[in-house]
Amino acid sequence: MPNKSAKAAHQEFDVVVVGAGPAGVACAVRSAQLGFTTACIDNWSDEHGQSSLGGAFLNAGTVATLALLESAKLFYTLQHDINKHGIQAEQITVDIPKLIKRKDNIVESLRKNAADLFKKHHIKLIHGKAKLCNERLIEVSSVENLSVSRVEAKHIVLATGSLPCQLACAPTDNDTILDSATALNIQSLPRRLAIIGAGVIGLELASIWNRLGSKITLLEAQDTFLNLPDHIISREAYRIFSAQGLDLRLGARVIATKKTSQGITVEYLTNEGPQTLHADKLIVATGRKPNTEGLAAPEANLLLDENGYVHVDNNCRTNLPGVYAIGDITVLGPMLAHKGMEEGVFVAEQIADTHNPINFDRLPSVIFTDPEIAWVGQTEQALRAVGEPIKIGTYFLRDTAKALTLGKSDGLVKIISHSESDTILGVHIIGPQAAELIAEAVLAMEFSASSEDLVRTIHAYPTLSEGLHHAAQTIVNSK
Ligand code: NAD
Repeated sequence: MPNKSAKAAHQEFDVVVVGAGPAGVACAVRSAQLGFTTACIDNWSDEHGQSSLGGAFLNAGTVATLALLESAKLFYTLQHDINKHGIQAEQITVDIPKLIKRKDNIVESLRKNAADLFKKHHIKLIHGKAKLCNERLIEVSSVENLSVSRVEAKHIVLATGSLPCQLACAPTDNDTILDSATALNIQSLPRRLAIIGAGVIGLELASIWNRLGSKITLLEAQDTFLNLPDHIISREAYRIFSAQGLDLRLGARVIATKKTSQGITVEYLTNEGPQTLHADKLIVATGRKPNTEGLAAPEANLLLDENGYVHVDNNCRTNLPGVYAIGDITVLGPMLAHKGMEEGVFVAEQIADTHNPINFDRLPSVIFTDPEIAWVGQTEQALRAVGEPIKIGTYFLRDTAKALTLGKSDGLVKIISHSESDTILGVHIIGPQAAELIAEAVLAMEFSASSEDLVRTIHAYPTLSEGLHHAAQTIVNSK
């Protein structure tokens, strides 16, 4: 219980940011740069109970995923592909705790970078759990000594991020049934790994543990696979991942789990009736929910929707004057770190009255699998559904010299442009370095480029970026 009798400290700032994930850190740093006295309240603690910046994204999310995936790809290459280069490598083994430690060291150095940024910009970090009392006042329960203090602010920015959704039939125990965070800390290779949910997180975790040698089964309730990117990308992803050995079971709704002496039994329903799967460990990757429970006192009247997302307008303003919300907790847009970071800067500049609007139509999405998947703009299916006249250019990376030299020829680039203006409306990529390649597409779309503009842009040869050039060329040639 918080020690309410302790003398309540009282502090005042121009801007108080609640949450030190990517969105909160970006907002706090920009606020301080703009000359505001700034504080950031965050309750994340490291293994020693000390404040740890970066939120779930850094401490238990995409950065950690990426670090592990790079190790896993290297291991796989050494085990399976290195001989093709004429290099003999025998008895390759993997030390999983060491691999996890490398990931932890990367996370630690990025946490330190964020802490240094806070110091450099004189941002006051308050290690505690914040509760919004009204549009000017926050109550903070200290993580360290449970004392309660009050912080006043002219402007408040809520950025408390998201948490993994729990599945009642598969309660996580951090041992046999893991959530997406603890799945990044497995200390020994599970021989059979089951994953509930073949969404972004399920696929990223599957890529890591598959490349390290686990036999992966993904149970996905929906009948269709990966609905967000263009369907040609989803089909290609399904083909590539299946060929890599992922057992992708669609239309498979998990209804029960039972721990056994050997691991876990998972029961799921398909069109053919009830099915059973045995595994050593189970990961639950069935979505994330906004971290807004207890964020505001009822009398603050902060407006949330029925799923707990904070209601905001297009300028990230909540229903309370001077209170903003950014990142995963809002009803606006997908849960992406770079979207939250952009909103953080946007809100700080709004407070300073110097902002430019954000264009969410140019928001890139990336799935860090092997190969990567990335897209920006609209899909062919969405555009056809509204009757937009479009042209399509598709190019398979197996036809590029660079992909062949890399020995990674799986993948494609698809560009969709408007039939009349030729303006690029969407770009979808699966393949090596897709996360990097998409940046060119985002920039092109930001400048309202046409596919002809991409064709007339000289691309270095041989590079993977040729894929974009050739896909655009297909459109131009079809005129
Ligand atoms: P998701 O919504 O992408 O996927 C969850 C999947 O679980 C869904 O396909 C759903 O049908 C399935 N599911 C739910 N209940 C089930 C059941 N009982 N049995 C079988 N399947 C079931 O959610 P996620 O992958 O957890 O990701 C959460 C959010 O975090 C997303 O918005 C994602 O974009 C974001 N995220 C992004 C990145 C990135 O940008 N690389 C990384 C991690 C997370």
